[in-house]
Amino acid sequence: MADLQQPEWAYFDGDVRPWSEAVLHVDSEAVKRGLNVFEGMKGYWSADGSEFGVVALPRHFARLQRSARILHVPCPVGPREFEEACRKLVGRLLGPDRDMWVRATLFVTEGHWGQDDRSDLVLTAFHQPAERPEPIALGVSTWQRASDVTVPPRVKAGTNYQVSRLARIEGRGRGYGEMVLLNRAGRVSEATGSCVLVVRGGTVFTPPATEGVLESITVDIIEALCGPLGIPFVRRPIDRTELQVADELGVAGTLAEIVKVHRFEEFDMPEHTPILDAIADRFWAAARQEDPHEAVDLTVLARRAELS
Ligand code: PMP
Repeated sequence: MADLQQPEWAYFDGDVRPWSEAVLHVDSEAVKRGLNVFEGMKGYWSADGSEFGVVALPRHFARLQRSARILHVPCPVGPREFEEACRKLVGRLLGPDRDMWVRATLFVTEGHWGQDDRSDLVLTAFHQPAERPEPIALGVSTWQRASDVTVPPRVKAGTNYQVSRLARIEGRGRGYGEMVLLNRAGRVSEATGSCVLVVRGGTVFTPPATEGVLESITVDIIEALCGPLGIPFVRRPIDRTELQVADELGVAGTLAEIVKVHRFEEFDMPEHTPILDAIADRFWAAARQEDPHEAVDLTVLARRAELS
């Protein structure tokens, strides 16, 4: 079983409160229809250990607002309140040795079928090891990414992850660390919690959002890192068979970070991965503030000297 953390505190109803009190009513839209939109944000300690910065916090808030708008979920906070809420919870839970992943969710707590809806901003935060991820085995799921007119993949809503859950269950049984979901056309959309990166002939390819992909902040960051590295970056539809003949394969996302694939289905991937290594090295240097990059914008939420 996964080692699930139960932190002492969560943020809801406008303040940091005990984890055990973070409950929803069975008759709320959030529970009955699984109505929530959310973001996952990752914060890193600087290499010198002095500052803890969350990557792209304003862009995560902007995407939360977009998800909320598409699903007609009211957003009860503005960008400043959002940042302050994150600061409050992180300040309470953060330790000096581990990084942190923060989940920000708007749960619809009042209303009925889209009338008189109210939502509450709920934040939970979890410790993460300050280590770069290990390569994974990647499979292709028999489950399919929904289309824009069914369960829009552009929306980051809890309900979008039903299919991810099924794909993970399927993948776990077959020994895969992540699973690719194909779209209705049979082309690559994304993985269950990350985007797919395909390197062919020195160029990085990834499917555009219109192929059934979340508008990924990490992929935008990678695109911006590629330019100065002299690595061409192209968004275009990707066939399933291209995964089999790729020079390098990877997945990318906020929590996943930039992960290399060492095996794709029954194929071992080449061990030499110069393109993905260069991108990952540049990302880590920026996230740890050793070599800042404007695409890896950090909102400093805590300083070592101020930790209680
Ligand atoms: N697709 C899915 C289904 C995801 O859950 C995630 C993680 N949020 C991503 C893509 C990557 O998005 P981001 O880089 O913004 O985290």
